[in-house]
Amino acid sequence: MFYTSTRDKSVKVTAAQAITNGISAEGGLYVPCEIPEVSRDFIRELAALDYIGRAKKILSLYLTDFSEEELDYCVQGAYKAGKFSAKEVAPTVELEKGVNILELWHGPTCAFKDMALQLLPYLLTTSAKKTADGKQIVILVATSGDTGKAALEGFKDVENTNVLVFYPNDVSAMQKLQMCTQEGKNVAVCAIKGNFDDAQTSVKEIFTSAQVKEKLAANNMMFSSANSINWGRLVPQIVYYFSTYCDLLNQGKIALGDKINIVVPTGNFGNILAAYYAREMGLPVKKLICASNANNVLTEFIESGFYNKDRDFYTTVSPSMDILVSSNLERLLFHLSGENDDFVKSCMEGLFEDGHYTVDKSVYEKIRGIFEGGCCDDAATKQTIGDVYKRFSYLCDTHTAVAVEVYYNYARKSGDTTPCVIASTASPYKFSPAVLEAVGSADAVCEDGFVMMERLHEITGEPIPAPLAAIQSKPVRFNQVTERSGMTDVVLHMLGI
Ligand SMILES: *Cc1c(COP(=O)(O)O)cnc(C)c1O
Repeated sequence: MFYTSTRDKSVKVTAAQAITNGISAEGGLYVPCEIPEVSRDFIRELAALDYIGRAKKILSLYLTDFSEEELDYCVQGAYKAGKFSAKEVAPTVELEKGVNILELWHGPTCAFKDMALQLLPYLLTTSAKKTADGKQIVILVATSGDTGKAALEGFKDVENTNVLVFYPNDVSAMQKLQMCTQEGKNVAVCAIKGNFDDAQTSVKEIFTSAQVKEKLAANNMMFSSANSINWGRLVPQIVYYFSTYCDLLNQGKIALGDKINIVVPTGNFGNILAAYYAREMGLPVKKLICASNANNVLTEFIESGFYNKDRDFYTTVSPSMDILVSSNLERLLFHLSGENDDFVKSCMEGLFEDGHYTVDKSVYEKIRGIFEGGCCDDAATKQTIGDVYKRFSYLCDTHTAVAVEVYYNYARKSGDTTPCVIASTASPYKFSPAVLEAVGSADAVCEDGFVMMERLHEITGEPIPAPLAAIQSKPVRFNQVTERSGMTDVVLHMLGI
């Protein structure tokens, strides 16, 4: 199996090269040259396995240049007992008949990014052994909050890697504490004087600086990227869509071959794109329902074929979906246009130069055949958390609530009664203020994140996730703050070069 680029079809690389490089040289994203297809028997066999076994079988279809031992090492390392608080890793629970929740937040940082970022370090180090003579991998991350922590947890103490996270001043107090108490001998965290865009721009500059790269090379080190356009972050996400289907089979809720709908709260379009790959591979899926918050650029796109980032940006209670440029959509455009790299290039140029593009009729019709889009604002999000809790005694976070609301709107309007799976992307305790307001009272919201978690626990009786509770007693290890101009020095100092 080889990979090509969305912007240049003459590119042909192995999975290991795609994962080590992160992004193709001309700026395109790596995509599989063919999407592997699976049979009913394959799904039946998958259903008899645990999560690690399922992951290994799916990954082996895409990472054909990895040996069986290497795949074993990767999936065992990522998903072994104790890493995730649920023994199923990603359990599927029923909200009501025909409506199921796929909980993707039982990992060490309590958000769905762990599903991929626990595996990526293993995929990356294994890939680098094949393609880069075992060079030491240096991961630089600019984060607006969740990705930084998930990358730190994923890479901590993984041999031959270093991870350094820069975060802007305006992350939440809990997110800051999560990062600054990070354990591990190969990690570092540093605040920057500036916002997320400043952090991101400076990290890109360091990443591409010839001088810094030379210095790294002289010390047998190289940069790589952990952001969500890396194929190594996408491929682990395909696994849990197969896994949830197998769980529904085993629970007797569907029969082999029955179709399901999948609903995903979406930001950068990575999670829902993984569901698209699963569908293309032959997982019986009718519709993929793309849920957005007030930043509803994707809802408009799915309804009209017009993508327009030139619009107001809203800061919402589901901040991980506050995105106007959904990078992974580029991969979908490539596949749906019949792998037309010129078409993808012209869309991306339009986006860069004019802030918008429109897809042609054939692509638009394909999108309509597979996707539904919907959105809701903060008021409806909080209302949904309260309603779901009252009706089903189920506590969900703000991102999940967006998906729940969009699903019920869709079901009401369309009359579609296909069983559905709603991806739940974060623990409600990660977003205590909004959740507390939704199920308790606005008076309970205060400055102290730990007090709010306690109050939420008192009201709902739901256990506080151990990794979040533990932060309170952990020492702060990192308190460095730098100007943007000092970031390169911070990197070199951390690496001791
Ligand atoms: C990152 C994230 C999302 C969005 O996922 P994408 O793959 O970027 O679409 C949704 N919810 C939470 C909690 C997240 O952290």
